[in-house]
Amino acid sequence: MQRLAFVDLETTGATASLDSITEIGIILVDEHGVEEWSSLVNPETRISGFIESLTGISNEMVAEAPRFCDLASRVYKMLEGRIFVAHNARFDYAFLKQSFLREGIDFSAKTLCTVKLSRRLYPGYPKHNLDTLIERHGLKVTGRHRALADAQLIHQFWEKIQATIPQESIQSAVKALLGRPSTPTHIDLTMIDGLPESPGVYLFYGENELPLYVGKSVNIRQRVMSHFTADVTSAKEMSLSQQVRRIEHIRTGGEIGALLKEAALVKKLQPTHNRQLRRNNELCSIQIKEASEGLQANVAYANELDFATTSNLYGLFKTKREALKALTKIAEEHSLCKAIIGLEKVKAGSPCFGRQLKKCRGACIGDEARLAHDARLLTGLFKLKIRTWPFDGPAYLQEGEEMLLIENWAYLGSARSEADIWKLMDGRDACFDKDTYRILLATSGRLQPLPLSGVS
Ligand SMILES: [Zn+2]
Repeated sequence: MQRLAFVDLETTGATASLDSITEIGIILVDEHGVEEWSSLVNPETRISGFIESLTGISNEMVAEAPRFCDLASRVYKMLEGRIFVAHNARFDYAFLKQSFLREGIDFSAKTLCTVKLSRRLYPGYPKHNLDTLIERHGLKVTGRHRALADAQLIHQFWEKIQATIPQESIQSAVKALLGRPSTPTHIDLTMIDGLPESPGVYLFYGENELPLYVGKSVNIRQRVMSHFTADVTSAKEMSLSQQVRRIEHIRTGGEIGALLKEAALVKKLQPTHNRQLRRNNELCSIQIKEASEGLQANVAYANELDFATTSNLYGLFKTKREALKALTKIAEEHSLCKAIIGLEKVKAGSPCFGRQLKKCRGACIGDEARLAHDARLLTGLFKLKIRTWPFDGPAYLQEGEEMLLIENWAYLGSARSEADIWKLMDGRDACFDKDTYRILLATSGRLQPLPLSGVS
């Protein structure tokens, strides 16, 4: 007979590296029978009002409870050599593993997730959360969101399937699930623990050093941990975390630095799990030019024109189609003439199609002054106007100890010393970059011209 431990934890939140356990419930099942144990745990931090009302475990209740360090060796002995059974096992397992690690104890166990077990045994049902299982199998509820009560529910579920499903089906399901590590065992959790709790970028690499994902956060460790604990029901997230073999990180001075670095790395590495920023050869904008009869609109492409220094550009679009769609919308909102702004071809002197429907105010046939028409066009475009690069050369934004160097809305890199700056100035490629532009637009007031003479 397999020696099992049905485990449920209550915690102060969803992130194993940051949040703490407030209650442990364990049911041991083996040849000697069934033994239940539970204890409140003093999390040594405040429990939020939301969690208090969810679990019913209040700050007062845990004030006098033992801390995890007081219980660690006892809990370890109970779980040692048993299969760790839990609902969303990865969550509880990661929490316990992390808590043990803080006490210098390396805990590991085979895990069996009852969500996955239920999914395997009852594939016809879409939902497998605990409330659903209670209803589906008529489980007896003594409490909810308390550790022992929830552990009892998954134990009852286990008993239920023993009574209703052939033993060999159960065993083959269990075998398949045990064979699949529920926390990525190839990831050394001490490696995650070694990540800094500061702003920056992290990179996941898979088999053969394949770049899988680049992410950013103001707290690298917390964010990386959440890939392995929170949101375990997301299939995409699960597949990513299973593929990770190595984690790299780069600290930045703050959030803007992290955003800029993330965008640059995604472009450079093209990681398989980032929504691909397709190589944007078609990046375009609406350009307004003056002709003798009035303003003209046309689509201009970033690879043909320097968007950082050209004035009279409006909007950034991934494709010409999107640009024309935006222009059409503005034309309709402002009763513009689609023939004049180039959306429609008509013979000179004939009314445009919109005029016949009274949607154009008639600039095409002289019923409206061209100047009035053009003024409305500029009003419609106003919000989309692209800011030209406001400096003659490179500029920087100071964030923490880091200087973020920018030129022509292109991110050149970050510098912590003058030597770094010169290195970045050498052979720089300062072409308009839409991600950098968008990231910096909100904070462009913090940009300062780079105070170096001789930079050109
Ligand atoms: Zn018209």
